[in-house]
Amino acid sequence: MRGLSPIPSYVVMQPTTLCNLDCAYCYLPFRAADRRMPVAVAEAVAASVNPWASAGRFSVVWHGGEPLAAGREHLAALLAPFGPEVEHHVQTNATLVDDAWCEFLTAHRVRVSVSVDGPRGRNGDRVTRAGRPAYDRIVRGIETLRRHGLPFSALAVVSDPTPGRAAELYDYFLGLGCDVLGVNIEETEGVNTRGNAHEAAPVQAFWAELVAAWRRDPRIHLREVEWSLRYTAAVLDGTADDLLPRRLDPIPTVGHDGSVTVLSPELAGFTDARYGDFSSGNVLITPLAEILAGVELRTPWVGEFLAGVEACRSSCPYFGFCGGGHAANRYFELGRFDGTETEHCRNSKIRLLEGVLDHARDHRKPAG
Ligand code: SF4
Repeated sequence: MRGLSPIPSYVVMQPTTLCNLDCAYCYLPFRAADRRMPVAVAEAVAASVNPWASAGRFSVVWHGGEPLAAGREHLAALLAPFGPEVEHHVQTNATLVDDAWCEFLTAHRVRVSVSVDGPRGRNGDRVTRAGRPAYDRIVRGIETLRRHGLPFSALAVVSDPTPGRAAELYDYFLGLGCDVLGVNIEETEGVNTRGNAHEAAPVQAFWAELVAAWRRDPRIHLREVEWSLRYTAAVLDGTADDLLPRRLDPIPTVGHDGSVTVLSPELAGFTDARYGDFSSGNVLITPLAEILAGVELRTPWVGEFLAGVEACRSSCPYFGFCGGGHAANRYFELGRFDGTETEHCRNSKIRLLEGVLDHARDHRKPAG
């Protein structure tokens, strides 16, 4: 794996900066303001994306703010320029989901991912703009999705990864009825400056317990665990070198105003004396395909990030699994892009893989 691919596998789009919730761990800087994406931005993105989608699988992920806060009429206008081959996904807090939204999501074949952090007591960071708990509204939205037969994925943020939490979490999501679960240990990034340093042993035990819970009833695709198992199986087969993509996916995020930030949506909307506003161009001026061609040569921080990936490759035994971490975690934790280990990669890569291996060691069949 060297350098960035000029063609991404998906694009993140921000239909509005606004979120109707005000979660304590949120990284978004402008979530109280309703800055909506003009249709001209979607048209410009679609001009590059439609040919990519005709040539292979391609997704647009509508991410906010809260994308449903843009309203059905506006979101329909933003979806319209994209061809039928483009898969649409929405990452939502579900609080605005009602019958009309379910009909909209079904009609536009939009796949849904819901953010919910587990049982009621684990959602204390999820509050409305008035500071009231959002859990009941989230669950009401999920129940509406289920009533309409809409499948959904779930994304849970875990702020205190400790044993005991994992089994509770997995059982909750089994009951919730999601198809896929992603587990994010809270990250220090964007406007969220809360620390994310944890002792190694409890985090590793958290992941090991999550594997055990999943193996008892593997009805849900558990994103992090399945990645880890795929990697360990490839190591045993001697094919691990084939797992990382040949080139990194640039994952462009297109902000509400058309600005393009590659690699980490969390960098969008920030500025730094050394790196400027992190954007690599604007689709209202330059076609997305042109912005992405050679982006590492024209965006200095991206070149610095790739130097950090090479530093990871030469120093970290987990590189084959991790591929070199995320740009935003390096920037917000280390203040630059060419460092290596972050608290994020310790929590979510190193301790994850070690937790999965601990589980495997504990469940080894006795020889003979
Ligand atoms: S685990 Fe951390 S140090 Fe190792 S390759 Fe990933 S980001 Fe780099």
